[in-house]
Amino acid sequence: MNQEKIITKLEEIVGKDFASNKEEDLYIYSQDPGASEPRPANYVIMPENVEEVQKIVQLANKEQIPVIPMGGGLTLSGLIIPVKGGIVMDMKRMNKIIEINEFSRYALIEAGVTTGQLLSHLNKQYPNLQPPIPDAPPSATVAGNVLIHGSGYLSQRHGDHGAMINGLEVVLPNGDICKLGSCATSDYWFSRGPIPDFIGMFISSFGIMGIITKLSLKLYPKPKFRDIIFGMLKDPKDLPNLLLSVTKQRFTEDLLLGMQDKPDWMKGYIFIMTYITGDTQEEIDQHTKLLKKIYRKNNARFMNAPDKMHKIYMEKPIFAAGAADYRKGGGFEYVGAFMPLEKIPEAYLKAAEISKKYGIPPTIGSRLMSGTHTIILFVSYSFNRANPKDMENARNALHETNELALELGGIPWKVEFAGQQLVLEKMDPNYKKLLKTLKNTLDPNGIMNPGNWEVK
Ligand SMILES: Cc1cc2nc3c(=O)[nH]c(=O)nc-3n(C[C@H](O)[C@H](O)[C@H](O)COP(=O)(O)OP(=O)(O)OC[C@H]3O[C@@H](n4cnc5c(N)ncnc54)[C@H](O)[C@@H]3O)c2cc1C
Repeated sequence: MNQEKIITKLEEIVGKDFASNKEEDLYIYSQDPGASEPRPANYVIMPENVEEVQKIVQLANKEQIPVIPMGGGLTLSGLIIPVKGGIVMDMKRMNKIIEINEFSRYALIEAGVTTGQLLSHLNKQYPNLQPPIPDAPPSATVAGNVLIHGSGYLSQRHGDHGAMINGLEVVLPNGDICKLGSCATSDYWFSRGPIPDFIGMFISSFGIMGIITKLSLKLYPKPKFRDIIFGMLKDPKDLPNLLLSVTKQRFTEDLLLGMQDKPDWMKGYIFIMTYITGDTQEEIDQHTKLLKKIYRKNNARFMNAPDKMHKIYMEKPIFAAGAADYRKGGGFEYVGAFMPLEKIPEAYLKAAEISKKYGIPPTIGSRLMSGTHTIILFVSYSFNRANPKDMENARNALHETNELALELGGIPWKVEFAGQQLVLEKMDPNYKKLLKTLKNTLDPNGIMNPGNWEVK
């Protein structure tokens, strides 16, 4: 079928306003805000419901056209830019909040619901409940975030956001609509088990196993009191013991670290932001006292932050983009990597060397997940999009940081196409064989986001 016939078929499924192959519409879908080179998309489509998604997938199978699911398109690592062309499926019209269950504490939503939309809905209608939210712009979708093992202010206590999925509705690559989790046997989307748990197959697989149309996300009670205790540390070697001591205390809700050369006053220190919670102000005061003692014992200093700074950081989510760009031209991308805690001191020092090698001021940070079971390393590189040399430097720095993470026993997170090759090179051969077998079984025509996690 030629391009004109295919666009006509797509328009028949979703209506003329929601499918396009026009250059001016495709421009934005062939790139993202990060450092990846643009790659062309052939069509964009915005379905409104699961039946439309199913019909698009059936057509794509028949015509052997790649399909790339997209939420907010904000991962920065090029994950929604087609590797082999095809139809970008923009999920934003599927934006219904279907149910908030206050007893089993979950939100059942469509895949296009944004993090900002869910947060404001809960704040207005269910002020005692809070969702897991990343520090990403509010137009990021909840699905896009949980499907990449995202993280946010509840991760220190409850783990990454992928672990907070209770159930999924998925359109499989063959067009079957499949329910996973308790919703496979019940009207309640409250749990992943106890039946064989296949949900993990759809997390961090970047849309190669199917298209999520609905999901159930765990919600959590909002604490009565929350505060942030700032600290400063000189030597990264002291970090592991400090973090072990802090997270032994169960009142820590979120713990963030930042080490950066700009603005100048931050240079030479690692800044620690520990969020504590309590039922009363007295409890918060007690926790603060204990935390200051722990900081002192581990060579960190308590920092009395100015009110303005305190206010900015008390906002949840924090508006992270404000801290990200120090360059003319306004671009940045970061390597995130899940790391073992003991490797963090070395990672900080070596990542700073990579930044300096490419003339980019070091901007390094971390967030703890489930106590210290995992710590994310963030290494952010800013660039001027209009300067090709700057872009090349950023790409090289990102690649070297992915290599560093792997060398230190970590795993690059939401890793872009080139980084996926590095991970695959290091992966256990039988893990790769399993991945290939599952992919080929579910998607024999290879239509779902081809190129990603491709095992040769
Ligand atoms: C300033 C800034 C701060 C950030 N801070 C954080 C942070 O604190 N924590 C964090 O976790 N992330 C953060 N991010 C990264 C990213 O923006 C978020 O993780 C975001 O939630 C991703 O959601 P999205 O809707 O943009 O996903 P997209 O980029 O649209 O998609 C992500 C992946 O999921 C796939 N996908 C999307 N929807 C579906 C679907 N329905 N079915 C199947 N596959 C699908 C896509 O193909 C892609 O592979 C930040 C980004 C920026 C720019």
